[in-house]
Amino acid sequence: MNHFAQIAAKLEENGLDAMLLTEEANRLYASGFRSYGTDGAALITKNKTYYLTDFRYIEAVHKHVENAEITMTTRERGYTVLLEELVQSCGLHRVGFDDAYMTVADGETYHKALSCELVGASGLLRELRAVKDAEELESMIAAQRIAERALDDILKEIHPGVAEKEIAARLTYLMLHYGAENMSFDPIVVSGPNGSLPHGVPSQKKIERGEFVTMDFGCIKNGYCSDMTRTVAVGEPSDEMRRVYDIVARAQKAGIDAARGGVTGKAVDGAARKVIEDAGYGEYFGHSFGHSLGVEIHEAPNAAPMNDKPLPVGATISAEPGIYLPGRFGVRIEDVILLREDGCEDITRARKDLVIL
Ligand code: ZN
Ligand code: ZN
Repeated sequence: MNHFAQIAAKLEENGLDAMLLTEEANRLYASGFRSYGTDGAALITKNKTYYLTDFRYIEAVHKHVENAEITMTTRERGYTVLLEELVQSCGLHRVGFDDAYMTVADGETYHKALSCELVGASGLLRELRAVKDAEELESMIAAQRIAERALDDILKEIHPGVAEKEIAARLTYLMLHYGAENMSFDPIVVSGPNGSLPHGVPSQKKIERGEFVTMDFGCIKNGYCSDMTRTVAVGEPSDEMRRVYDIVARAQKAGIDAARGGVTGKAVDGAARKVIEDAGYGEYFGHSFGHSLGVEIHEAPNAAPMNDKPLPVGATISAEPGIYLPGRFGVRIEDVILLREDGCEDITRARKDLVIL
């Protein structure tokens, strides 16, 4: 799977002769091949793509990167030398680059080494990446199904006395076991009072009876991320815990019901936020309703109070309201939804009624 043609088709309207991708996420989206950091470069011109890489990746690139002319860097002819040769031979004047990702130091190096004009053009990739095609969706759903199998298993292993870290380690193992390439991010597992930290780090704290356990995790399949949060009770929850869980579930439903292509991120967030505010917990929902995801776990656009632009049809956005009561407990429930013209499709299948273990 690569998106060279889609990028090439956008060059003209952006006033560019080519797009240079040197950073991991955009290069992965464009080529379908993951190499790390700055290990690789793709130069996409209107009618041809050039892919440069070093000795460590050359065999894999020949196998996985299609529709591109592939060249290996050497000690004498590194990325900047090879790219300048292409700038000259292809007659490139205005070339877009990964300004949202590149370090200032690398930017200076490229500006000095290349005789063309370099123009920040991450927005072109951001817009393309926001709308998923069928193959991308298939990968995201496959990643989600792996995470769901891991969840099914882990629910049988959560007991009083098991440490948060142990659960995080097992989730990681199970997702790899069921076919994940890697984690989308380090799993978050927080329990009891730690649950009020939305992005808390799993600790040696042991689960106790009467606590909530919040697990936020996802994995990567074919380069694409999944993301899901479930909060479960270990032993009988208090009335307030039940009430807060119910409010978060209703807020999530309100957000999902409001979500479709053409609606602003602010409106989707607002629909969920209203449920939590009306229930008197507004100040305890301090983050946004959702973020996009794809080759990265956090992409644009967001379903957030600051986003007053319409969300595009084909975007995949998390739906993750939460209520966090400091020093006491927290609840978050997260699915991923695909925006359609007339609504949205929830690609998460895991049950989300209150599970009591
Ligand atoms: Zn998450
Ligand atoms: Zn998320």
